[in-house]
Amino acid sequence: MRELTSPTTVREIIKAHGFKVRKALGQNFLMDANIIDKIVRAANLSENDLAFEIGPGLGVLTRRLAQEAGRVLAVEIDQNLLPILNETLADLPNAEVIQADARKVDFDQLAAERTQGQFGPGGKAYKLVANLPYYITTPLLLHLLTSGFNLELLVVMIQKEVADRLQASPGGKDYGSLSVVVQYYTVPEIVCKVPKTVFYPVPDVDSAVIRLTRRPVPPVQLRNEETFFKVVRAAFGQRRKTLINALTGSGLASKETWLSVLNETGLDPARRGETLSLEEFAALANQFWLLRE
Ligand code: SAM
Repeated sequence: MRELTSPTTVREIIKAHGFKVRKALGQNFLMDANIIDKIVRAANLSENDLAFEIGPGLGVLTRRLAQEAGRVLAVEIDQNLLPILNETLADLPNAEVIQADARKVDFDQLAAERTQGQFGPGGKAYKLVANLPYYITTPLLLHLLTSGFNLELLVVMIQKEVADRLQASPGGKDYGSLSVVVQYYTVPEIVCKVPKTVFYPVPDVDSAVIRLTRRPVPPVQLRNEETFFKVVRAAFGQRRKTLINALTGSGLASKETWLSVLNETGLDPARRGETLSLEEFAALANQFWLLRE
C-alpha cells in the first residue's frame, strides 16, 4: 500500500478516481504521519477495542486505527469516496466503511449489530477517533455526548478555537455553553496543536487534537438534564449582560421567578453567566426545576 501521507500519492489517488474534493463536506485530508501517530497514541487502542471513525476520507487514519484496534467502523457521508476506500483499505479486513451521515447514526445500534452485541448497549464501551468535518463539529459532538451512547473515549481533531472552548474555565473569553456541556460529560485535554499546512487542501483555520474521556459518574447531581442545558444556554444567551438579565431575557421564566431562584441558590444576580462554574450551574438549574414543579 502506498503512503497516504505523501502529497504526491494523495494527488495521484484523487486524480486516478476523478474525485472532486468537496469543501462543503469539510474535506481536508491529513498528510502528516507524526500527527496521525499522536492521535492514535492518545486513543490508547488495543485489539480488544472497537473504534469508530467519522469521515475516513481517503483512509489515512483508518489504516492506522485498523492496525491498532480489533475492529474499525468508519462512517463516511460521501459515496464518491467509497471506491477509493475500497482500494486503500483492501488489505485490512477488520476495517469496514458505512456510508451514512454521522449526525443521524445510532452508534450504539451500529456497534451492537456489527459485533453481535459485544459492544454497545449492555455490551462493552467503544472509542471514537476522527479528524472531524469542521462545518458540523458542534452538532456532531452534541450528538455523540448527549445520546447516551456507550462511548468511553473520543479523540478528535477539531478547529483550534473550538478545542480551546471545550476545555475553557469559568471567567475566560472561551468559556461558553459548549464548555459546560462537554465538561459535564467528559474530561477534555488538548493533545496537540496542528498547523493548517499539514492538510490537503489547506483549510482556513488551525486545528487541535483533543481527547475527551467520558466521566464514569457525572461531576454534579442534576434533577433534570434538559433543564440544566436550557438554563446554561439561557445564561450564555446574552454574553455581556448580568445573570438576571440574561436569564430573564431567555423567556424561560419571569424576572421574579429568577430572582427568587438566584436568592435560594445564593448566587448574586449581578454576576455574569460566563463566571459560573459547573457546580453553580447545577445548583441554579436544580433550584429552577424545583420551583417549576
Ligand atoms: N479522515 C480523513 C483524514 O484525516 O484525512 C478525512 C477527514 S476530513 C477533515 C472530514 C471527512 O468527513 C471527509 O471525508 C468528509 O467527506 C466526511 N464527512 C463530512 N460530513 C460528514 C457527515 N455528516 N457524516 C460522515 N462523514 C462526513
